[in-house]
Order: sequence, then C-alpha cells, then structure tokens
Amino acid sequence: MDTSVVIERPTGSGVAGAPPPAIGITGLTVTYGKVTALADFDLQVARGETVALLGPSGSGKSTALKAVAGFLRPSAGRVTLDGRDVTHEPPNKRGIGVVVQNYALFPHMRVADNVAFGLRARRVPRAETARRVTEALDMVGMETYGRRYPRELSGGQQQRVAIARALAIRPPVLLLDEPLSALDATLRSDLLGELQRLRADLPDVAILYVTHDQTEALALADRIAVMRDARLVDIDTTDRLYRRPPSEFTASFLGAANLLPARVAGPCAADAADARAHVGPLTVPVDPARAFRADDLATLVARPHTLTIAEPEAPGVLRGVLTGTQWRGATYRLTCVLDEPAGTEVRCDVATMDGVPALGAPVGVRLPAEPCVLVPVGGVA
Ligand code: ADP
Ligand code: MG
Repeated sequence: MDTSVVIERPTGSGVAGAPPPAIGITGLTVTYGKVTALADFDLQVARGETVALLGPSGSGKSTALKAVAGFLRPSAGRVTLDGRDVTHEPPNKRGIGVVVQNYALFPHMRVADNVAFGLRARRVPRAETARRVTEALDMVGMETYGRRYPRELSGGQQQRVAIARALAIRPPVLLLDEPLSALDATLRSDLLGELQRLRADLPDVAILYVTHDQTEALALADRIAVMRDARLVDIDTTDRLYRRPPSEFTASFLGAANLLPARVAGPCAADAADARAHVGPLTVPVDPARAFRADDLATLVARPHTLTIAEPEAPGVLRGVLTGTQWRGATYRLTCVLDEPAGTEVRCDVATMDGVPALGAPVGVRLPAEPCVLVPVGGVA
C-alpha cells in the first residue's frame, strides 16, 4: 500500500494546530460470523473533502460506511467525527446524512414530509423546518415536488429527494452508498453532474462516497481508497491514483490498463527519475511505484490510450500481430499479441484506422514517451 502522500496522524487527537479529521476511522474490523467483511481499516476524511471507497462487489465498502453511520457494531477499531469518539453511539446521535442505493424513502409520506423527517425527530421548530425543507429540495432541483408521494416520482427524482432528506439536517458528514447504481445510464450521468454541483455548494461537508464505478469515483472524489477482500489496498489523490497506480489491481480497476511483463534493469528507489526496465526486446525508462532490485520481475502499466501504432520494423517498437479491432465510437480499440514478451496481449485505443494494418498482419506498438509506472507483479484476480 502506498501511503506516502497521506498525512497520517492519530485519529481524534490531532497534532498541535491541525484540526482532527471530519471522519476518522482507525483499525476498524467487522465480522459477520466467520466472514471478515472489513479488516483493520484506516481512513481519514478531512472537512470539505470527498473520498471515494472504490472496489468490487463484496470488498467491504458498505460495511465500512455502515460502521461510520452506526448501523453496525465493529468488533474492533474506532470511528471519530471531528475528533469525538462515536464508536458506541447510536446512528441518530451521530448527526450524519446517509443516502443509500435504493432511495429508502418513506412511501406513505409526501416528499416534503420525507425531507422534514430528520428535522422533526430533532424537534427543530416548525418555521425553521419548513425553511430547511425548501432549501434542501431547492438544492436538488425538486422544490416543486413537495406534495408528491414517492411513488409519483421517477427513480432519479426519488434519489434526489433522498439526498435532500440527508442534507436537511445540515450534516457535517455525508455518506453515500452507490447512490446512482439503481438508475439507468442517462439518469446516472445527469445525477452525477448534479452531485458535482452539490459538492461545490457544500464546501465544508466531508463526503464518503461508496461506489464500484470508476467513472463516479474519478468525477467526484478528491481521493480514492481502493478496496479488495475487506482491505484497503491503495489510497491517493484521484489524479495520482489514475496516472500512477501503485499496484496491478488498482491499475486495472481504475480504468483499462495493459500489464506488460518487465524486468528491472538496475536497482532503483521508489520514484527514481532514472529507472529503466527491459520489456521484450526494449529497455525503456520507467517510473517505479516502489523500490526494486536489479533483475526483479515487475509489471509495466500502460493505459490503452497512451499506446500508438507504428510500422513493425520501426525502431523502438514492440512487434506483434494485430488480432482484433473494435469500433467504440470515439476511438478504435486494437488488440495486438506481442512477439516478445511472447503471447502478451495489449490493447491500444486509436482515433483513426489510418495506418492500421489488416487483421493478422504484423504491427508495431509504441510505448508513450513519458515513462510508464512500474509496479510489483501480481494482485489481479
Ligand atoms: P460491498 O459493499 O463492497 O459490496 P459489503 O460490505 O456489503 O461489500 O460486504 C462485504 C462482505 O461481507 C461480503 O463478503 C458480504 O457477503 C459480507 N456481508 C455483508 N453483509 C453481511 C451480513 N449482514 N451477513 C453476513 N455477511 C455479510
Ligand atoms: Mg455495497
């Protein structure tokens, strides 16, 4: 796990002058009978920050979110909110806004009453409640729907109301668990844009956003925490994790990635500027995600859109055979099988078919001019 850019501090106490994180999770472990759903999980989310928990189904994302919300009891570890230990507090004492996948609106209540629910439970005065309901519905573009029942709304509208309900209590922390995954593609894209706007309207709120969808994580998160098998595998800023993934798993989960077998040319430290590796017949500059020794086997990560096609005999290319072309609208995805490292399949996204040979013909694949990241071997299921 690469935590080099994460500022670690004891949760809750805060170093002198630095405020405690809005959400502090330390050593959190959750078991269901014999299943460990979350193992020794650490995460801090700062005020105003959005962190996406990204991982495949069953990796423990919802379990982490539920433990923060107070919906389940961890078997070990702590949760703090603004430095206050809430591990043993019930959900309604935590003052958190929660939005889940399937809306979970009260079907027998009108929209306005759904949104007012948390305020009434907190005995907020009537006039103030009305004001906040209007404000929250306004934030999600649903101000004219207050008198409808949930069944009279589309899925996207219901999810907007669920977000308004979570926001009405003006929570310092907002938890969203796959809020878009029940919607069809168009609605999902609309609501994603809406969430981006909302994020800008809530500069002080800490957001933990659970998703298995890399598009949502890339669009919304300041940092992404990648999960697998109940554990945090990698965490970094969104941009860095995409451009410089530290593991095969993160590289292939956060976007398409070619994983090319490589051998390290000489000892190098993590981030070394002069590191090189052998890939097939080539020796190329690489960006090592961690320290390697000479001759270590490693994996070179190259995103399909960074590769280009060349003549098979051109200098500095990996030679192979074109085995597939797929039109994807904006680009064509070419599949090539390399001569060396023998049998390695690479995918290459190109804007035009100009210069692309016929299927079965020899082709050259050129790596990007920028050094590709070099990661340890293994880790993709
Ligand atoms: P995710 O949200 O990443 O899909 P979850 O946190 O829901 O994953 O689940 C993590 C693991 O815990 C899975 O193996 C899942 O089957 C298991 N699990 C989740 N909830 C329960 C439960 N109530 N009882 C037993 N096992 C559960
Ligand atoms: Mg889940």
